[in-house]
Amino acid sequence: MSTTSRPSLLIRPDKDTFLNEENPFEAMMSRFDYAAERLSLDPGLYKVLRSPEKQIIVSVPIHLDSGEVEVFTGYRVLYNTSRGPAKGGIRFDMQVTLDEVKALAAWMTWKCAVVNIPFGGAKGGVVCDPPTLSLAELERITRRYTSAIIETLGPDSDVPAPDVNTNERMMAWIMDTYSMHKRHTVTSVVTGKPIEMGGSLGRREATGRGCMLVTREALKRLGMPVKGTKVAVQGFGNVGSIAAQLMEDLGLTVVAVSDKSGGIYNPSGLRIREVQQHVKQHRYLSEYKEADHIANDQLLTLECDVLVPAALENVITSKNARDVKARIICEGANGPTTANADRILEEKGVFVIPDILANAGGVTVSYFEWVQDRGGYFWDEDTVNQRLERIMVQSFDEVAAMADRHAVNSRVGAYMQAIERVAAVHRLRGMYA
Ligand code: NAD
Repeated sequence: MSTTSRPSLLIRPDKDTFLNEENPFEAMMSRFDYAAERLSLDPGLYKVLRSPEKQIIVSVPIHLDSGEVEVFTGYRVLYNTSRGPAKGGIRFDMQVTLDEVKALAAWMTWKCAVVNIPFGGAKGGVVCDPPTLSLAELERITRRYTSAIIETLGPDSDVPAPDVNTNERMMAWIMDTYSMHKRHTVTSVVTGKPIEMGGSLGRREATGRGCMLVTREALKRLGMPVKGTKVAVQGFGNVGSIAAQLMEDLGLTVVAVSDKSGGIYNPSGLRIREVQQHVKQHRYLSEYKEADHIANDQLLTLECDVLVPAALENVITSKNARDVKARIICEGANGPTTANADRILEEKGVFVIPDILANAGGVTVSYFEWVQDRGGYFWDEDTVNQRLERIMVQSFDEVAAMADRHAVNSRVGAYMQAIERVAAVHRLRGMYA
């Protein structure tokens, strides 16, 4: 890409506007606080679990294609590694701040614990604007950032993955850079890699598949049928399109889907493979002819039984929660529901499958990727899917049991389950001093 039209590459200093009430990360931490209180967590342990273990800030100098030097800022936060190596994505975005990275690293800690995989939580990011950077510049940023944080990286200490604006190509560069420093190939240092170099079959579909599996379990729990149950899915990217396709395969009727161009609706059911084909050819849903067109926010309050927000954070708020008709919300996206909306949904008796459970299929198959890389033995796709199913179903049941035991909703139940698991390991390990 040409760099001539590049806007100024000014690096934003840490924003101090973080953590207001509608902020999804603050919403997550306030749910953590509530769950910790319900568990009567020991105040000392509470302090430990509220604090990130390690925060790294690095400068990432590179030569731009023009020959100029630019210095980007990178972060890596290891929030908690008591249960195993830190696991969490790396995002490239102008919005990245240390506080955001800290909160996302905490989020990963609870997500890994809720599905009981032996990882702690981490997150990383580089403050940059990928659409204005060439592939070669992105490669130089990725490699220099990797070498800057190389002491923490490693299959036994910290295992990154893709996140906003990073992809399997960048994971390949991270793996290569790390391997060059170690003088031998280390595939298990990063997940979300291309299949050819140690990626796992089933990883691309894993988050959507997990959403389908926990929705199926929720229907069972609420005594609702699968056949004819109507679903609306917000977002038609990796998570939304796969969740919609697998839910249709299961026998549900997908009545609406949307992307950033708008939504499409057919009360008797869309044909999801045809819609996927359309998006492959035309990119957006807005040109799709075989259904009615609806606005994005209309989708959230449509007549349906299951709503899957799988696009953005903060879309179900105190403004529209009262109008939600669905009986079940499966949170494919991270943080789609605000804390205020939670209260309204609970009053209405909506069953929310919280993000840290609903979209944990992705990190679960990342764990499988790490296991396969370390073992040097790769599983077929059916094996990956069966093992994912076992973990998702068991985690759903454990969260439901925790919620029942403490008479709380499933979001609080999920946080309680996660905190209890991390706290249990801290108690057993004791305090090193
Ligand atoms: P993606 O970029 O593949 O897809 C996002 C989709 O949302 C696109 O179809 C986009 O057009 C649509 N969208 C954007 N703005 C919209 C709007 N205003 N209304 C409706 N649709 C809109 O991203 P993804 O990987 O599918 O991730 C979606 C969400 O799931 C994010 O919150 C992400 O953090 C979360 N998540 C993803 C994974 C994963 O494995 N991909 C894992 C866990 C959580």
